[in-house]
Amino acid sequence: CGIVGYIGLNDAKEILLKGLEKLEYRGYDSSGIAVRNEAGVTIFKEKGRIADLRAAVDENTMAHTGIGHTRWATHGVPSRENAHPHQSNSGRLTLVHNGVIENYAILKREYLKDVAFKSETDTEVIVQLIEKFVNEGMEVEEAFRQTLTLLEGSYAIALLDAENDETILVAKNKSPLLIGVGKDFNVVASDAMAMLQVTDQFLELMDKEMVIVTNEEVTIKNLSNEEVMRAPYTAELDA
Ligand code: GLU
Repeated sequence: CGIVGYIGLNDAKEILLKGLEKLEYRGYDSSGIAVRNEAGVTIFKEKGRIADLRAAVDENTMAHTGIGHTRWATHGVPSRENAHPHQSNSGRLTLVHNGVIENYAILKREYLKDVAFKSETDTEVIVQLIEKFVNEGMEVEEAFRQTLTLLEGSYAIALLDAENDETILVAKNKSPLLIGVGKDFNVVASDAMAMLQVTDQFLELMDKEMVIVTNEEVTIKNLSNEEVMRAPYTAELDA
């Protein structure tokens, strides 16, 4: 399983699909991408091979921001409904996740009693919880941080906000995740291999860090909202 993300000036869907193809070796049962443009966020997802996803993606969808996922099901059968990305009920927030949220049932009971779920995944709890905090008045970044402090388990996460085309929010705990740095673009990947197609400069992330990624900047923060400074390294791998 794996995650990719892209924010820049080029065709996001193609970079995401290529990235997911590079992650196929990690194993998966389904895959999906979400891209954001003036029309909003569009999701394509399929059970089965990346080739099936590629066939389902509308070639005319032009977007410069997006996230992608290959799923290895842990909670909920492999199916199109359970494939990522998952969306909050208003449709504003779209999220991909690798890992396992161990306390998802508790979170659901404590915070999301009134929310109708569309999938059987532990993952959907994350995106619905962020939306709950947004509905209560928080900014998306703050709601994201607040949600992360409540999660127990492992996660690599990327989040799109339909009302903010400038940013992808990212977080990591006990699941691999890297930020790839470029000129006028930045990327997200579980494995540098997925994004060597566009850059060989990567920033390592530590557990319980979150990242605000724009096409110009990468801001790493800890869950106490303090900025963390880190220099990129050069990945020495063959693409
Ligand atoms: N636990 C999540 C699910 O079952 C993510 C699995 C993964 O790492 O791909 O959907």
